[in-house]
Amino acid sequence: MNRIIELINKLEKEHILPKSELAYIIENHTPETDEYLFERARRIREAHYGKDVYIRGLIEFTNYCKNDCLYCGIRRSAKQAERYRLTEEQILSCCESGYALGFRTFVLQGGEDNFYTDELMVKIISEIKSRYTDCALTLSIGEKSRESYEAYFAAGADRYLLRHETADSAHYSRLHPKNLSLENRKRCLSDLKSIGFQTGCGFMVGSPYQTAENLAEDLIYIHELQPHMVGIGPFIPHHDTPFADEKAGTLEMTLLMLGLVRLILPNVLLPATTALGTIHPKGREKGILAGANVVMPNLSPKDVRKKYLLYDNKICTGDEAAECIKCLGNRMNSIGYRLVTDRGDWKN
Ligand code: SAH
Repeated sequence: MNRIIELINKLEKEHILPKSELAYIIENHTPETDEYLFERARRIREAHYGKDVYIRGLIEFTNYCKNDCLYCGIRRSAKQAERYRLTEEQILSCCESGYALGFRTFVLQGGEDNFYTDELMVKIISEIKSRYTDCALTLSIGEKSRESYEAYFAAGADRYLLRHETADSAHYSRLHPKNLSLENRKRCLSDLKSIGFQTGCGFMVGSPYQTAENLAEDLIYIHELQPHMVGIGPFIPHHDTPFADEKAGTLEMTLLMLGLVRLILPNVLLPATTALGTIHPKGREKGILAGANVVMPNLSPKDVRKKYLLYDNKICTGDEAAECIKCLGNRMNSIGYRLVTDRGDWKN
């Protein structure tokens, strides 16, 4: 039997492989072995979540950031970024329109912006959770102290997304400024998990200097951490960053990673990301067909959308949330899946 097929079968059974075998798949997979993998991944996904696709309303509430990650379009030194912050009132009005559209999870994402003190975040979290008792709230606001995470959790936040970006510390330091470390990123993730958040890590595919070994290490770290969610999207260059002239990650490699992660963590919440939809017109549909089960349409006010540009050519920045949800609904139906009105919690 084909060596790749053999390894995919072994991964499905044992949920992890030695690094060399993961790297072997990454370097030698073919369209045929991909089809086999995706078929296995869909079967596993459907056993846990059926044909349901969960939606998360993404509220990009600030593009101020104190960090200077080399890949990111809202990094501190990105001079062209037009900075904005949403008020508590504006955030609540996003939730209101999102609720009416069927969203039962709101995701507050932003740069690391100290304007939003823990006190202010706790106020916003408490207000959202008291108005929308049947909704889950996810935060994606970067690296904080354990005490801060505890305060957000006590205020009612349910989930936290913090991509680890790469599990290789040398690679990490080529993507980030000196003051940031993989060690602290991992500390944050283990704090978040032990506090009780449904926790998400993740990485970019095709980031500068990334090797097949690095991707294998990402998969091994994911298996170690056992997160509830994993965010995976292609790296896409942004013109106002040091990586402006680097190549984007590919559709093929991103789909491969989604399929492999579904075999490693059978019940993971796995988004088909906006970045995947940006590099290919059918990217999100293909992501679902490779084992993903979540989409995260934008709920940010229309006038700020074009300002939250982590990478160039981001899709859906001109549409109202209602249009996005209709379009995504049609896209999911076209491949035999359905968007559902549900908190979409992790299932054990
Ligand atoms: N400040 C928060 C949110 C970051 S934005 C945090 O630190 O977690 C969310 C994700 O977008 C990042 O984790 C990163 O993986 C991704 N991202 C940033 N720049 C990108 C780019 N140029 N291409 C693709 N994804 C990018």
